[in-house]
Amino acid sequence: MRRKICVVCLIGLLLGAAGCGEVTEPDLSAYETAGPAQIPAEQESGEAGKYVALTFDDGPRGDTTARLLDGLKERGAKATFFVIGEQIAGNEELIKRMAEEGHQIGNHTYSHARLNSLDQDRMLEEIHKTEVLLGEAVGERSVWLRPPYGFIGKDRAALVKTPMIYWSVDPKDWKLLDTGKVIDAVLRDVEPGDIILLHDFYATSVDAALAIVDTLQAQGYRFVTVEELFRLQGIEPKAGVLYARPDKAREMK
Ligand SMILES: [Zn+2]
Repeated sequence: MRRKICVVCLIGLLLGAAGCGEVTEPDLSAYETAGPAQIPAEQESGEAGKYVALTFDDGPRGDTTARLLDGLKERGAKATFFVIGEQIAGNEELIKRMAEEGHQIGNHTYSHARLNSLDQDRMLEEIHKTEVLLGEAVGERSVWLRPPYGFIGKDRAALVKTPMIYWSVDPKDWKLLDTGKVIDAVLRDVEPGDIILLHDFYATSVDAALAIVDTLQAQGYRFVTVEELFRLQGIEPKAGVLYARPDKAREMK
């Protein structure tokens, strides 16, 4: 539709002007045919549903974790760090950076303990001590647990007051210590919704992680925190459940 309107006449009437000279009628059709608002580039770039979570255990470690945080920042990728309590002292700045730069911080116990072989009090102490240290570094928050080695029994799990996170892709980076092999193992197995296990303790794992981000981002993947992965899938995580992915709980023995 092409609507003819004399804007100058309208303005003249509104202003109480006496007459309206001969004017060229503006063509307003462009305003009527303009489509919906442009989708911002950041919403266009990710294909729907291609989200994954990178998780890093056993840090923080001064050099490797700092380099990883730099690389993730450059790439606009978020991750989740399951830190060991006894490694927080001296690395508080790295913990603060994780929080400030939008990463999720999780608890990997105080001394990397096998929780299923401790008595209940010791087990709760292993979890609590790290929570306190993280609270001091970045303030009180819900800190999800990743039991070292994924070991926790059903009875012990019932005592945990937060969700627990296992993993669905494990390249065994700590054993391979080979950037190329770690990259290949992850790229071979990864699917949308996966939780990838890596360790920021090793330089080879940091190199692999950043290369994995580059490759998967080029395929339309987006890297989000574990918490965000649950939210995107509309799944409410429950305390005491061990999740391999938001849509898959792991059986505990
Ligand atoms: Zn570990």
